[in-house]
Amino acid sequence: MIYFDNAATTKPSQTVLDIYNRTSNECWFNASSPHKLGTKSNNLYNKAKALVTKNLNTTNHNVIFTSGATEANNIAIYGICNKYLNQNSRIITSKIEHPSVLNCFKDLEQKGFDVIYLDTLNDGTVDLKMLETSLNNNTVLVSIMWVNNIIGSINNINEIIKLVKPYKKAKLHIDAVQGIGKLPLSFNANEVDLITLSSHKIHGIKGAGALVYKENIILDEFLKGSNQQLSKSGTIDLAGCVACAKSVDEAFKNISSTVLHVTKIKNYLIDELKKLDYITINSSINSSPYILNFSYNNLYSETLMHYFEEHNIYVSISSACNDKQRKPERTVLEATKNEDLALTSIRLSFHMENSLDEAKQFIEVLKKYRK
Ligand code: PLP
Repeated sequence: MIYFDNAATTKPSQTVLDIYNRTSNECWFNASSPHKLGTKSNNLYNKAKALVTKNLNTTNHNVIFTSGATEANNIAIYGICNKYLNQNSRIITSKIEHPSVLNCFKDLEQKGFDVIYLDTLNDGTVDLKMLETSLNNNTVLVSIMWVNNIIGSINNINEIIKLVKPYKKAKLHIDAVQGIGKLPLSFNANEVDLITLSSHKIHGIKGAGALVYKENIILDEFLKGSNQQLSKSGTIDLAGCVACAKSVDEAFKNISSTVLHVTKIKNYLIDELKKLDYITINSSINSSPYILNFSYNNLYSETLMHYFEEHNIYVSISSACNDKQRKPERTVLEATKNEDLALTSIRLSFHMENSLDEAKQFIEVLKKYRK
């Protein structure tokens, strides 16, 4: 099998699975119980939080462990915005966010928020000039992703921090799912109000993620109950928290070697794809080394995906479609403004265990395709 779909999910590492099992077996006590066993669990929970903040190098942040990035994004966005209902407050995001951000903004727009959806430039990064002109004293939230999950464009978070900072009411949320543990942190996390990460994108377990947010922020209650994790109530899933923190820790340790490795694979593929006149590369040269998006002239994405599948090669088409109603992939469309490219795009995404040999096989199989 050649698995080039690591932006969708990654294989959990054995170390993470071991620590999950060990914690479940040996420390299954309720972290909120005031007795000795509860305290033991609570200590492990606090250690897991500290491991996350240590890796992000933050000194002023709290951690809420979640069921993944979708939940973390929802907690961040509603946690801030619910406090400003019916005040016509401005909130800003980009047109190419993950649905777990975008759909919250669409919902809040219905609820009366003044929502700005930022355009992207043709390299797939957010239009920062538009951000600059959109910010005002009524802005309460800016939510922009670090690395785009479809074309791999990397936003300049330092610039975004600088632009948002003068607006005292505005909180900055970064969906860092495709960057954290994959790329060296290119910004000071202490300067970001809320950061989302997901464990299963970095060889952790499914159903685990985290929202890392400034200690002085009071989030509106997301799940009402006993307030175990402040805004998120419910008995703490200690094994999940410990395993999530472990996946973050392992990923950070491996960043430089993994970046080098996946860069070689991506560069090889780019060189080979460029030789084929029926291929257009949709990812810009400055995009994440983990993601390569391209289009095959006049060949619908799902047809090519299934062709690769027949050869035991797994890629992503990232568009919701069926035979009757094909929809252009919205991120590719937004970045390229070209519907044909958006209907025919394929995403490859890599990890440490992919090899150059797999990349070579991929190109051979691609070249053999006959319409
Ligand atoms: N944000 C981004 C950028 C993503 O790529 C994903 C998953 O693809 C998510 C959020 C949602 O992550 P999860 O599956 O952990 O809910």
